[in-house]
Formats: sequence, structure tokens, C-alpha cells
Amino acid sequence: MEKRIWLSSPHMSGGEIKYVNEAFESNWVAPLGPNVDNFELELGRFLSVKSVTALSSGTSAIHLALIILGVKPGDEVIASSFTFSATINPIAYLGATPILIDSEEESWNMSPELLEKAIIDRLSKGKKPRSIIVVHLYGMPSKIIELLSIAKKYEIPVIEDAAEALGSKVGGKSCGTFGEIGILSFNGNKIITTSGGGALVSDNIEYVNNARFLATQARDKAPHYQHSQIGYNYRMSNVLAGIGRGQLEIIEERIAKRRSIFDFYNKNLGQANGISFLPEKSSAFSNRWLTTILVDPSRTRGISCEDIHKALEAENIETRPLWKPMHLQPIFENCPSYTNGVSERLFNLGLCLPSGSNMSDEELDRILFHLKKVLSL
Ligand SMILES: *Cc1c(COP(=O)(O)O)cnc(C)c1O
Repeated sequence: MEKRIWLSSPHMSGGEIKYVNEAFESNWVAPLGPNVDNFELELGRFLSVKSVTALSSGTSAIHLALIILGVKPGDEVIASSFTFSATINPIAYLGATPILIDSEEESWNMSPELLEKAIIDRLSKGKKPRSIIVVHLYGMPSKIIELLSIAKKYEIPVIEDAAEALGSKVGGKSCGTFGEIGILSFNGNKIITTSGGGALVSDNIEYVNNARFLATQARDKAPHYQHSQIGYNYRMSNVLAGIGRGQLEIIEERIAKRRSIFDFYNKNLGQANGISFLPEKSSAFSNRWLTTILVDPSRTRGISCEDIHKALEAENIETRPLWKPMHLQPIFENCPSYTNGVSERLFNLGLCLPSGSNMSDEELDRILFHLKKVLSL
């Protein structure tokens, strides 16, 4: 059996170890420390955002963002339905209700039309949604400008889930910096990693200071341990922030490589009958975290994305179905949802191809060979 090719595996540069060693040598083997402070500064500079706090995961960042925006039990929070469950779970942690919004065709992200329809409908039921979580899925920027203008019209704050979109931009401005609060993830499969970690970013320094306070057990200013709020243990470890600093130094290379992987698949399969790729529209720049394809079996002589998945798995090559929309998940199917069939269709027809920046040209050729073989190209 040939060596396994993963969908998206961690890609160390070698530069990380210097910062990890610094943590060991100074014995800052703790949550917090100089690597955390510097990682926050460097990430803020990369994104051009005023303030950053490094956290234990993207999920914890979403949880804190919702708390900071005042989400309480019984509240409603609007969110993209076509996403990973980590976007939605924190809404449930708070006893609030997710209101799920389907996708538009161009970026696969939240439909501005359905967002406005949902807001009007919730308002007519006497409930003003407390917040809106907009996801930039697979690194492709959502129609954030349109979504923001609707949110602004109804005065509802926006959280951007940019977990998959670090380095993606709209009109030159980084995803994660448009809404009131942005969140990032540094999980092992993301474009850069700290093995596990996340961040909350905002131009509102008070929000970020509040996140930092809540993430360190909400300790009041007092000589003893005093607490007037429920706290969390959500900060990033100084050892892991060292990995993040090394990763951030080469992020531009990682983005360029992911984009070149997309170009490789698109150049070699873009003309094939029944196979389509997701283009960047007008002002959007995608980090191309994962390359995705849609497979229309009526134009591939019956070959489906499931057939491709199985054929590549038999060759020890990992592919993955697109995210199953949250309104179709057993745990969330009773949540109010505003749908148009788009994300369900994407789920039925779509597949993520191996996209890791550490793949060699030989590995890409091996994947292409087997893709062409199953498609009889
Ligand atoms: C990875 C991911 C998260 C969660 O990040 P973790 O660091 O794994 O907690 C949230 N939203 C989306 C869209 C993700 O892909």
C-alpha cells in the first residue's frame, strides 16, 4: 500500500522549534507567557486588526464572542447552516436557539436574501436575534459586505467565523476583521496550526480585554481570588503559541501553496464533464484551505462523489464529503431554519480533495491519476 495522503495535515516549517525551546528554557511552560503575547501581536499585525486574544480553540472563541455580545438563555442567534458543528454548538452551550440560514450559490456561504427574510420573520414573532454568526467556509469569503449592511440595518452584531479563512480577504481586507468580533482556529488541519488553539479578534479593544478576562477564570482585581462572574479556562498555552509564531512566519507561503493546489486540480479537471470548481468572485481572495469539487453524475456517466471517495480511499488517499448542513443534523433539525435547497444540494454533490500544503508534486500527480481513472478521463 502506498503512503497515505491526508486531506490536510499539519505542516511544520522547522522555525517553530526555536520558540518552543524558548518556552522550555525560560520555563514558561504555562498558559500565558511571552510567546502568547507575541503571537497575539504578530497575528494582529498580519490581519490589520487592533486587538487579539489567543485561546485554547476556535470553539472557545465562538463561545466567548457570544457571551461578550450578551447572548443569554432563550435568545436567538442566527448562523450559517452550511458549516462545521463547532460554529453552532456554543449557541447551545448558552441555552440560546440557533436560527439556521442556507447558502447562496456563488460563495456557498450565508445567503443575504435569506438572512433578511429570517430577521424580518423573527422580528414579526417578537424576537430580535441577538447576534449573527457568518462563516467563510473552506476559505472562500462570504458576501460579507452585503450581510453586514443587512445586519447594520437591523442593528444586530456580527461574529465572523473565519476558522477556515485565515489569510482570505475581501477587497484587500482580511476575513475576520469585518464583523464586531472575528474568530480563528489553529486546529491541526487548518491552514496554520498550534496543534490545537484559536483566537478572538476585534477592533473593539474592550471586547478583546473582556474575552481575556473571561478566559482566565474571570478574576476580579483584588489581592485574593475574587469572582463576580462565571469564568472559563480558555487561554492558549505558551508552548503552543510558540508553534503558532513559527507557523505565522511562513503563512504567505502556505496560502500560495494551497492556491497552487487549487490551480493544479482546476487546470487538470476544470474542463471535465460534470466536474465543477468554486471560482473566486470579483473582490474575493480565498486562502483555498480545501479544494472542493461538485460532481454531477448525470454528466459523468453515473460516477458520483461517493464513487470517487471510495475509489481514492482504496488507493489510501483521503477525501471527504462537504459539511452536512446543520439544519439536516439530528441534533439541530428542530431549530428554526430558512432554506433554499442550496447547501443540501452541495452536500449531495460535493467532495473535498486533498489540499495539504505539505504534499509533493508526485503526490498531486498520484491523486490526479486516480481521479482521472475513476472518471474514465
Ligand atoms: C475548525 C472550525 C471551528 C472550530 O475550531 P476548533 O479550533 O477546532 O475548536 C469552527 N468553525 C469552523 C467553520 C471550523 O472549520
